[in-house]
Amino acid sequence: SLATFLIVTSLFSTASHLGTLASGAQPDEDLSALDVVSKIRTDWGSIVRASLDFGHIVETTPMGVFHPASPSDISALIRFSLSQPAPFTVSPRGQGHSSRGQALASGGIVVDMPSLQGHNGGDHGRRVNVSVDGMYVDVGGEQLWIDVLAATLRHGGGLAPRVWTDYLRITVGGTLSNAGIGGQAFRHGPQISNVQELDVVTGTGDMITCSRSQNSDLFFATLGGLGQFGVITRARVGLEPAPKRVKWVRLAYSDVRLFTADQELLISKAAGFDYVEGQVQLNRTLTEGRRSSSFFSASELARLAGLTLDTGSAAIYYIEGAMYYDGYSAATVDQKLEALLEELSFLPGLVFIRDVAYVQFLDRVGQEEQKLRSAGAWDVPHPWLNLFVPKSRIHEFDAGVFKGILKDAKPVGLLLMYPMNKNKWDNQMTAMTPDEDVFYAVGLLRSAMGPGDLERLEKENEAVLGFCDRAGIGCKQYLPHYASMDAWRQHFGNKWSWVAELKAKYDPKAILSPGQGIFPSAR
Ligand code: FAD
Repeated sequence: SLATFLIVTSLFSTASHLGTLASGAQPDEDLSALDVVSKIRTDWGSIVRASLDFGHIVETTPMGVFHPASPSDISALIRFSLSQPAPFTVSPRGQGHSSRGQALASGGIVVDMPSLQGHNGGDHGRRVNVSVDGMYVDVGGEQLWIDVLAATLRHGGGLAPRVWTDYLRITVGGTLSNAGIGGQAFRHGPQISNVQELDVVTGTGDMITCSRSQNSDLFFATLGGLGQFGVITRARVGLEPAPKRVKWVRLAYSDVRLFTADQELLISKAAGFDYVEGQVQLNRTLTEGRRSSSFFSASELARLAGLTLDTGSAAIYYIEGAMYYDGYSAATVDQKLEALLEELSFLPGLVFIRDVAYVQFLDRVGQEEQKLRSAGAWDVPHPWLNLFVPKSRIHEFDAGVFKGILKDAKPVGLLLMYPMNKNKWDNQMTAMTPDEDVFYAVGLLRSAMGPGDLERLEKENEAVLGFCDRAGIGCKQYLPHYASMDAWRQHFGNKWSWVAELKAKYDPKAILSPGQGIFPSAR
């Protein structure tokens, strides 16, 4: 095909450029360049896999896929790119679980980050090193959070990071490039707030260790930095003793004001739930959506569906809470939970409690993934839209979006809505949040399951963004995607000049993570 032809041709030109290098450059440089090229795969399967992501919306072909055996290989690749008259772009790819091509590299080289862990019998231990004394784990940027969890639990009587994303089969480098949010973030901040040190290979090919006190500009830029400043090859993440079990609770509401008041109460408490999230179920989701879920049984769902008819509410809201416990606190956890529930205003009787192991709770979306895969509902387009909405505007957002634009939307996914405390975020980092003490993460996590779904969902997303703009809601996109540099400028607001300055310092040719579409690459 033409694509194969182009790939082969471009690699020949890379190879012939090696020849040019060989005539004028030092022998060491030649060897390094040859070593780099030998780790680039251009077979059809590799190219196809690196041309798509979880979103199944953007498709773009790289020149090749690089398989590093060590961080210094990544440095060599970047230096090789910079030695070219027209440097090629370089995109680290963790699991490619982005929605809009953020880990793709059109005509460039995709770095297959999982290659770093080698093939020695899945010895994650070599790139996941726990310090029980220091209460931290040093972990390769390519590692999956599920493997980090398995490794840390084996130490110190069971240790674990404090903050988790809902889904654990994504990489440390991928989530730290965004923020890494979940139900524990209200108390401990996002995952980026829990990182103590990083090893980064910058866009100049330098391998730099950074922290709050050492090369701090690179540390802050990289955390939430959308892959723009360097490739994270190691992160030091704080640990705590892991609980053994979890009381996993859902509380139903038909009144959004009671729902948000209770969520805000819960995230203001120093003790109470250890995890707080929330979901919105629109009328059609309850009456036409799935007949069971990993949490609710079919009869519970039927009861909830009846409720929307009884109350006349356009939506039902759930608080999802989790209270951790272990051997010592097992005797008192029920009492503690009961006391907490008494403070809340959920619909009478509509409290659902499961008692599960900690790992089962953390890996709940992994279990859901298996079901979706077998139903053929995983590898479909995911036009996800994630927004941070300031607390002062959340009811307006609810009225305009959930009870307005999406009121009669086809039930095709999940709607998340939960608050976080801004003081747990570090404003020196690149991740952007609204300018209020409390803001809501709202996730429209919908899948295109049938013909016409993708176009319709994209239109609805545009309508939601248009509504927020016109109403001046002051949202920030999370896992952001914008089509123009102007929109990115607006996203970063008064951090923009700092972002641009650090980009010029650490990736002056703008070769890194081009799929984010923030800076035009220097090609
Ligand atoms: P990729 O998609 O491979 O990469 C993402 C970006 O980071 C790209 O620009 C890439 O170039 C760059 N990158 C990748 N690795 C590195 C590295 N080592 N160094 C520097 N840059 C790098 N997010 C949350 O915060 N909370 C959630 O609860 C949550 N739930 C999710 C559930 C599902 C089912 C899915 C699919 C995603 C979810 N996400 C969640 C989003 C997820 O955190 C991001 O999409 C993340 O980027 C995925 O990691 P990845 O390894 O697949 O990254």
